[in-house]
This record gives sequence, structure tokens and C-alpha cells, in this order.
Amino acid sequence: MEDNEKRDISFIDLKKSYIDIKDEIDKAMEKVIEDTSFILGEEVSEFEKNFAKYCDTKYCIGVSSGVDALFLSMKALNIGSGDEVITTANTFIATAFAISRTGATPVLVDCNEKDFNIDVNKIESVITKKTKAIILVHLYGQPCDMDPIIDLAEKYNLEVIEDAAQAHGAEYKGKKVGGIGKVGCFSFYPTKNLGAFGDAGAITTNDHELAEKLRILRNCGEEKKYQSTVKGYNCRLDSLQATVLNVKLKYLDRWNEQRIESANLYNKLLKNEEKLTIPFKNENVKHVYHLYVIKVEGRDKLMQDLALRGVSTMAYYSTPVHLQKAYKDLKYIKGSFPVTERLANSILALPIYHGIEKNEIEFIVENIKNNV
Ligand SMILES: *Cc1c(COP(=O)(O)O)cnc(C)c1O
Repeated sequence: MEDNEKRDISFIDLKKSYIDIKDEIDKAMEKVIEDTSFILGEEVSEFEKNFAKYCDTKYCIGVSSGVDALFLSMKALNIGSGDEVITTANTFIATAFAISRTGATPVLVDCNEKDFNIDVNKIESVITKKTKAIILVHLYGQPCDMDPIIDLAEKYNLEVIEDAAQAHGAEYKGKKVGGIGKVGCFSFYPTKNLGAFGDAGAITTNDHELAEKLRILRNCGEEKKYQSTVKGYNCRLDSLQATVLNVKLKYLDRWNEQRIESANLYNKLLKNEEKLTIPFKNENVKHVYHLYVIKVEGRDKLMQDLALRGVSTMAYYSTPVHLQKAYKDLKYIKGSFPVTERLANSILALPIYHGIEKNEIEFIVENIKNNV
């Protein structure tokens, strides 16, 4: 490598996965356009069947986005005004917004230093008589430690909702996420491991009654055409997105394996670097590396140095939920969640996606080593 070599390595490149399966995707989309069945058509039920099977759950309900999946799940579980829902401070703010939209109050918990997921030991102390559910976020594609959380939920009679928006195909003790709690909520935002060509989402569950309720809620409360039995929403999955997802689902395992290989290469090349910490390896889980995130002192400087070499990186999440202006009303302060806050200043997500080349990862690592 030359000393001042500059490349153009984007943080994520969605073109590569499209080009690989272009013919198949184009043909499938063309069929939907010609059939003109754009909303909740055959493609949607086909995808729901396929994704339920993939997640090892009995039911899947296609919806309009990940945040809508979370919102509808809570509505179907009768969560609303006056209730409290526990979740992690270290998540994408949409998790909390879904809670707020039901009228319930998000109650945040700090994350742990190891896998950056919710700190299981800090959940019990925030449970009150108003607590109805816990939303677990399998952050970066690495499942939470589910067993103790399920135990706590049983002890206090709480619903367990999995926010699996970053974890399609991830496993906890050999079990796919989305089928461990009462409901699993997925986002198919284009950059996720399984991404549509626009906004889309899904809910997975083994509960028949809940699945029926969700189907009605997502479609204007209609049990039959123009017969609304409850106040519903327009949160439907459309057929063009479903057809893209049907095609891409076939490649999800292979593409996840490639992410894991890329992560293993990063791990191998970075593991002896004293000034940074590579992702924690939990033997109980299959991590699908939606993001590959290291912890490093001087993060902002390193980001700039890498940018000078044409390497784009990101900080997920540089402002935690409780310090966002939108959540002033929750009255958390700086210092409320010290681990999350510390991470906010030191986490760095490196490029990882289907199609990233080995030599690109080597180039990124070389530049990290030269600059930490
Ligand atoms: C992406 C994401 C969401 C929201 O999904 P949308 O489809 O963008 O609504 C929710 N939670 C987490 C953890 C996410 O990463």
C-alpha cells in the first residue's frame, strides 16, 4: 500500500446486491406491475408464508415499516396511555418512538459493556405496576441474552417484544430471533440485512389470536371489506416490496454468511490492536453483523483520518435516545446511562455489506492501525 493511497469505500453499497440478482428482481417486479395487484396481493401472502417459515414462527404479518411493526404489536397487546414499556437507551430512536405513539411511556435501561445490548441486571429495578412489556433490541445483529429476560417477564407477567430490525437470521441458542418473545418486529429498510426497495416491515408470532388481531389492525380495522371491527391503521405491506423481499429472502443466509466472514476477517486483523476493542463474541448466539462495530478512543479523529483515505464509517448511535431533544420530557440527564453515553463517544461502525472485498477490508484495517 502506498502511504497516501486513497480509495472510495462507501459505508454501504446496495448496488452490489441488486446487480447480483437483477434479472430475477426485475422479472418479479414486472409481474406485479402487469398484474396491477399492488396492495396486500398474493405476493404479500407468499412473503408472509416464507418469512414465517424462515423465522420458525407460525405467523407473519407484513406491514409498512419496522417502527409500524413495533407500534402495531403494542396496540395488539393493548398497550397504551398510562402504561410503561421498558427498552434500552442504546438503540435507534424509532424503538422509543413506537412506544410513545401508543401513548405509553418509554422507560429506558442502560446497556452492558460487552455486547452493548440491554443490561439484563438493570431491568428489574425499573419494573413498576404500570410496566406492560419489555422491548429487546438485538443490536447490530447480535441477539440479547434472552433466557434471564424471559424469566423476568414471566415473574412480572410482562410481554416480550423483540425489535429484530437489525437481526434477520440471527439466533439465540439455536433459535431464530423473532420467535423467542411474544412477537418479533422486523424492518426491511433498504440497508438492513434483508432490505426492500423502500419502507417495509413484518411481525412474527406463534400466537394465532394476536396474528388475527394484527391483520385487522394493519388494514383499517377491517375484518371484512368495509366492515371495521376496531379502530385500525393503514400499515400495509405493498406487493412490489413483498416481491423484492421474496426474491432476496432466498439469498439472506448466504449474504449473512458473507457478513460473518467479513467480520471474522476484521476480527483476525484487528484483534491484537491494543487501542481498540473488537465486537464481543457470545458463544450462545449467531451474530449476523448488520453492523461491525469497534470501540476506540479518539473515535472522531479516526473517522476523519479514514475519510481522508476514502473510507466512510459511521457512529451508531452518537446521541443516545435519552439525550435527544425529542425526549426532553422524559427528564433523563447526562449521566443517566453512563455505559450508553461512554459508548456514544467511542463506537465506530466499519463498512460491512454483501460484496465488500477482502482487499477493501485489509485497506481499512491498515489505515486504522496507522491512525489509532
Ligand atoms: C431500522 C430500525 C427500526 C425502524 O425500522 P423502520 O423500518 O425504519 O421503521 C427500529 N429499530 C431498530 C433497532 C432499527 O434498526
